[in-house]
Amino acid sequence: MRKGESKPIPPGYRLKFLGFMLRDTYGRQITDLRASVTDRCNFRCIYCRAAEPENYQPPEHLLTFPELLRLCDILGRLGLRKIRITGGEPLVRPGVEDFVARLVALGRYQDIALTTNGLALAEKAATLKAAGLQRVNVSLDSLRAERFDAITRTRGVLPRVLAGIEAAQAAGLHPVKVNVVIVRGFNDDEIVDFACFARERGLILRFIEFMPLDADHIWDRSRVLPAAEIQRRLEDAGLPLEPLPRNYASETALRYRFADNGAGEVGLVAPVSEPFCGKCSRIRLTADGKIRTCLFSQLDHDLRGRLRGGASDADIAAEVERIIETKEDGHHINDPDFTPPNRTMVFIGG
Ligand code: SAM
Ligand code: SF4
Repeated sequence: MRKGESKPIPPGYRLKFLGFMLRDTYGRQITDLRASVTDRCNFRCIYCRAAEPENYQPPEHLLTFPELLRLCDILGRLGLRKIRITGGEPLVRPGVEDFVARLVALGRYQDIALTTNGLALAEKAATLKAAGLQRVNVSLDSLRAERFDAITRTRGVLPRVLAGIEAAQAAGLHPVKVNVVIVRGFNDDEIVDFACFARERGLILRFIEFMPLDADHIWDRSRVLPAAEIQRRLEDAGLPLEPLPRNYASETALRYRFADNGAGEVGLVAPVSEPFCGKCSRIRLTADGKIRTCLFSQLDHDLRGRLRGGASDADIAAEVERIIETKEDGHHINDPDFTPPNRTMVFIGG
């Protein structure tokens, strides 16, 4: 067993001592759903999508909002409590605001969040807030316009993303977190700039290690900047950090505040250098209706066929329980024989 992986718990022990909860074979309670609402995206980030157009799924392969809502209801009844709406880019799917409102009305989820590239956030933040969305994560990998264009393969849209962050704060979406994927040689010279940006605006930063989930296969271990190095670079720049307690056991980020009590927060998400699989509480639902028990799963489990084939809620719930029994102990990125999954991030939902 490697660092960050989990130890199997025999089923009898789970039943007898842990009671009825949605738990996997390693005793991890499954409480979080990442639900992708689309595989489309208006960016083409170098660490995610291919330079050339990929084959999008035909529209009829994607779950309709009523299908997705039914699954979210079943999963909520099974004990999932947190949901993050993602994609692709969730805000490109027409009707996503109404979907949020219906999800809230289900009353099954205590925490409803959304991850976006921020391009359409300035227009949609207030409506999303009114629909009941609680909080938002905005991906932003450079504060320099030309570099932002190069990373996202877009033209001149950084001001719109920055306006989206401001609009989300003004609308009362709270907290607003900013996700920064650090790729050595591309944007690691902006770590301190990002920290200053967060301090000025009272934002929660999340520096995320680059994972082998990109379509163009540029991932290489040498491109990963370990979380410890990010922390060291901030300290060297006169911005020492002090650890904060986890908000909950399965939180992916190691949280820090600025030692001088400056506004904002820094989180380090280190799936490669400090795997947190042993505390993982997540499953993922792809836009085409597959459950993935790990970002790095080699297979996905189809629920769309069952939904469209007339399965009852009880049948689907039983299938989900069976799928959760197959959740992997860990991602094995650091094993010599690691093989990346055949779905890239945009087709999974981060
Ligand atoms: N389009 C939205 C966005 O970019 O925020 C939501 C979907 S995106 C796949 C979700 C998150 O995954 C983003 O924060 C993105 O930066 C992150 N991500 C994508 N590819 C990644 C990779 N190879 N390694 C680490 N994070 C990645
Ligand atoms: Fe699109 Fe998000 Fe992937 Fe960038 S990270 S290409 S914005 S899905």
